[in-house]
Amino acid sequence: MKLVIIPVTPLQQNCSLLICESTGKATLVDPGGDPARLKSTVEAHGAQPERLLITHGHFDHAGAAAELAEFWGIPIEGPHRDDEFLLDSIPEWCRQFGHPMGQIFRPDRWLEDRDEVIFGEERLMTYHCPGHTPGHVIFFHPGDKLAFVGDVLFRGGIGRTDLGRGNHAQLLDSIQNRLLPLGDDVRFVPGHGPMSTFGEERRSNPFIR
Ligand SMILES: [Zn+2]
Ligand SMILES: [Zn+2]
Repeated sequence: MKLVIIPVTPLQQNCSLLICESTGKATLVDPGGDPARLKSTVEAHGAQPERLLITHGHFDHAGAAAELAEFWGIPIEGPHRDDEFLLDSIPEWCRQFGHPMGQIFRPDRWLEDRDEVIFGEERLMTYHCPGHTPGHVIFFHPGDKLAFVGDVLFRGGIGRTDLGRGNHAQLLDSIQNRLLPLGDDVRFVPGHGPMSTFGEERRSNPFIR
């Protein structure tokens, strides 16, 4: 599986373009904004998007999903239904951040814990990881030992829980009992900032020790 990280929005949110190398089929995790840039990157790689995946309902992760789903004629999967209230606030958040207007949408499929999502011949496992938002999910590729964790965990940090319906205890529980057990050697793409591994964070992240 090929991974291309494309930072989007003024918040430099890491949108991940994942390409199945045997079929050319692709998915984008968290297409939060800058749709023209996402379209041209997909085109430059000759990839064919098959679905869009959303970790949680914040505008910087989901803001361009509706436009791109319509452009490519593909479904949106995720987040978990508990983030429905956040999808409704996308335009309001965009206005506050002076960001081009994102559209409200409903995914074609709400994701549940342990749901599998497929593109080309690649499979990702979904884990429900509430705390930053109630309906936050993360995606894990067991073969490549690669995870896409949105705003649950960062290199040296953890997600904020002071935004609507965040819960600090729940966030720590998601990190300890969902993310870290996937293995120290798992690399992850956070929603913002550089990649890391679960082992590195388990050893050195001051927020989870
Ligand atoms: Zn967020
Ligand atoms: Zn974010």
